[in-house]
Amino acid sequence: MNVHDSEKMAGILKAKGYAETANTEDADLIIFNTCSIRQKAEQKFRSELGRIKLLKSKKPLLKIAVAGCIAQQKGRDILKKSPHVDYVFGPQNIHKLSAMLATNAMVCIEDNPEIQHTNLPAERKGNVKAWVSIMYGCNNFCSYCIVPYTRGREKSRPSRNIFEEICGLAEKGFKEVTLLGQNVNSYNSDTNFPGLLRKINVIKGIERIRFVTSHPRDLSDELILCIKELPKICEHIHLPLQSGSDRILKLMNRGYTYEDYIEKVRKLKESIPHIAITTDIITGFPSETDNDHSITIKALRSIEFDGIFAFKFSPRQGTKAAEMEESINEEITSQQLIDIVGLQNDITLRKNEALKGTHQEVLVEGASKTDKGKITGRTRTNKIVNFEGNESLIGRLVNIEIKTAMRHSLEGRLISQS
Ligand code: SAH
Ligand code: SF4
Repeated sequence: MNVHDSEKMAGILKAKGYAETANTEDADLIIFNTCSIRQKAEQKFRSELGRIKLLKSKKPLLKIAVAGCIAQQKGRDILKKSPHVDYVFGPQNIHKLSAMLATNAMVCIEDNPEIQHTNLPAERKGNVKAWVSIMYGCNNFCSYCIVPYTRGREKSRPSRNIFEEICGLAEKGFKEVTLLGQNVNSYNSDTNFPGLLRKINVIKGIERIRFVTSHPRDLSDELILCIKELPKICEHIHLPLQSGSDRILKLMNRGYTYEDYIEKVRKLKESIPHIAITTDIITGFPSETDNDHSITIKALRSIEFDGIFAFKFSPRQGTKAAEMEESINEEITSQQLIDIVGLQNDITLRKNEALKGTHQEVLVEGASKTDKGKITGRTRTNKIVNFEGNESLIGRLVNIEIKTAMRHSLEGRLISQS
């Protein structure tokens, strides 16, 4: 979501005549688009901001802006503590960037209830796949999460605006869109999320549709039917479980039990047998016991996700969980994280190995970053495939026979192209 927000900022700046530079020393304006989801992201930003101070002292006309969720949370404090910063603006005020640059210094962190009507021109890289915001904010208030406080209440864009943006992308040659929202399943404008998917599915030129993130509580039978029936919806869903323990899920305010979750997984697998399911897991949530951890491990063994993102709980100031006592020993949490990642690595590899010998449709994205001389793309189930082929295939759907499976990618042989 932040990367796409940066694309929107780049779009606004381009319209004002700015050009991107790869060299920080050459920049007239530097924007830090910050994330505050976990402490680690915040630390990274702090050290970068410190480093840039020297540059500003050498180049006084350089303007520095802090955007994103840290900007939203800390507001004016950033200017006080870091006088080398000129502008501070939150994720709901990206549309003010242009006006802000006309001033000497400014802080923009007010709520923007009209955000769903701001159709900003995003400057995207390449022309194969694109992110498209369909909604902003979140109403869920999971007890550990800062997002509802920084991105505000949930607001959905009118479906016509989304449709028009995607038609524009198709005209430019884009083949894949990923619809973005903190909880896309609760999209609610002139239509619901399945209604939006049906509308987008008919856009000529767009071959694939993905979406993140789905909240398990709001995953409806109607949506499962859409993934099954609409040919462009890819067979992959990111469905964050967070914990296998009902006690912890309740403390997290997730709004579902493990039973509810696996019932949805069962329905998904029954309707779409080859669907890939990925998830997020948090370890070390306040009061989590060895028993809660074992239940999560059991859940991972039983569901067999295609991939997971696992995080150590990070207390975020202002959230309910940050106030909860009984914090967990750092060493225990680290070991639990190692256990979870180790187990999942084995599962992911096993699942990838099962694809050996199969033929997979791959949308070619570009040159492989890891495998020199090869090109790369993804299966409909979102697995990375590297293979030998000409870069003229970029943007094309090809058929690949999977030859080798690794944990994070597959290797294959080009069979045919469409
Ligand atoms: N809206 C999405 C997720 C947004 S944040 C959803 O509900 O699925 C992405 C992931 O970061 C979350 O799924 C959660 O696993 C993790 N996360 C959020 N806040 C966190 C915190 N305080 N500590 C550790 N992980 C956190
Ligand atoms: Fe955060 Fe929960 Fe909203 Fe996701 S659904 S953004 S985890 S509050």
